[in-house]
Amino acid sequence: MALAEMNIAAYHGVSHEPLTEPEDGVRHNCGVAAFYFNTPDSLSNLIPALTSLNHRGQEGVGVVGLLPDRTMTIHRDEGLVKDNVRQIVRADADVHIALGHDRYSTSGGVDAWQPFGEEGERIVTAHNGNITNPLSFLNDIPLEERTILSSDTHVLHKALNAQPEESVEERIQKILPRVEGAYSLTIADRDTNSLYLIRDPSGFRPLHYAPLDNGNGYMAASESVAFIPFVRDATKVIEILPGQCIRIDADGVSEIPIDFPETKSAQCIFELVYLGGAASEIFNTNVHAFRRACGENLAEVDIEHGFIPDIIVPIRDSGAAATEGYSMKFIEHLARAGYSPEEIGARIPREALLRNNSVQRTFILPKGRGSAVTEKFTIIPDVVRGKKVVLIDDSVVRGNTMTHLIQMLLDEGASEVHVRSASPPVRHGCYYGVDFSGSDQELIAVGKTEQQIAEIIGAHSIAYINLQDMVGIAKTMSGRENDFCTACFDGNYPVAVDPDLLLGKAC
Ligand code: SF4
Repeated sequence: MALAEMNIAAYHGVSHEPLTEPEDGVRHNCGVAAFYFNTPDSLSNLIPALTSLNHRGQEGVGVVGLLPDRTMTIHRDEGLVKDNVRQIVRADADVHIALGHDRYSTSGGVDAWQPFGEEGERIVTAHNGNITNPLSFLNDIPLEERTILSSDTHVLHKALNAQPEESVEERIQKILPRVEGAYSLTIADRDTNSLYLIRDPSGFRPLHYAPLDNGNGYMAASESVAFIPFVRDATKVIEILPGQCIRIDADGVSEIPIDFPETKSAQCIFELVYLGGAASEIFNTNVHAFRRACGENLAEVDIEHGFIPDIIVPIRDSGAAATEGYSMKFIEHLARAGYSPEEIGARIPREALLRNNSVQRTFILPKGRGSAVTEKFTIIPDVVRGKKVVLIDDSVVRGNTMTHLIQMLLDEGASEVHVRSASPPVRHGCYYGVDFSGSDQELIAVGKTEQQIAEIIGAHSIAYINLQDMVGIAKTMSGRENDFCTACFDGNYPVAVDPDLLLGKAC
């Protein structure tokens, strides 16, 4: 067996079984946070930052701190940040650099939690995204280390660590222009106490940095929401642009040019649709305002078609902003059309679906638990009985939760249930850090018309925002002519993917 084949086989010997069962909708990617302290400060500063990014990855959490004596303090384990607070506090110390990571993955186990970094290694690495050609880096990694590789990030981490005679910048310059796919990276150099922040040239995943309010250095994070406890003035939060590499060290902030091949930007529009926190700015766009505008667009189309619901009902937290936009457009329309205040008031969005907060993590329930939806939501019958309900969500990906909710609403006496999605039908898989394949088991819209989808989920109708309209909203709000990745909607993949060079979809 050839060496490369042997090592690929060794990698594939690692279990790829998901650690959790996904809830309906997409599984997230990951979130990163980092601090550079001029004077060593507590590693535990990562706790609030990672907590506010926990929506990006809920399988595991990791923190690594570089102490002044160049040793490391580490905690990495499964669970939410709140499940790991005691252990992080136990690992607490005053550090020069702190790297943190919220993880969602489909592969690996405890040894795949990030950040990667061990005693004896110069570089510590945390990554959000998915590298699509990790197997092309096997020859950059010593033979004895190839059999322990646990994810795409681990390959990159080992490749960066494998050139001990070179500076970190030489290594970055040598390795990163060959890396394909999505990566927002935080990298710490133990020898020089430097923090590097890098976004891939397509800019799939977000990354930001800002000076700390207390003057003791800088922080970095996937989303602007993570900065709130540390940087009160949001205008100080700077977006790292596609293809940019920033170094932070004792001399302050500098930019390191990397000779990337010419690449079109392809920011993941799903960050705005679903992945990003509603309180964040991502790609220079206010996430809540984007979702609200998509909801307005849905309402405009319904008004044009003469569709008037009796009651507007949001789904999940991320459906709330679209519902707000949808209902405001409707209220304006009804007022113009001469409806009375009572008639308008009756249509104002209602909490008809109450979430049972004691059932927070349905995605860890065993397979076959359709009843998990029933356990998670309670319908208020009086609100929906005899009404034509419009259910609004950010997206309809698998449709399982939607199917159960529609049945619950009809069981409680709703006369009709209509579904509106603030993103277009998802018909293709993602290779850039969000975990859904293009199979019809995972994506309800694959090979189906809207009418067929409505029949499957038991809705009286389903309508999606038009892709061009959604991209237009993103371009207008970002104020840039940047191109967005829309591959899961239209199949136009901005970075070609060679299946022979993939390592699962870990991030
Ligand atoms: Fe985002 Fe979809 Fe592109 Fe994946 S395929 S990066 S989820 S827009």
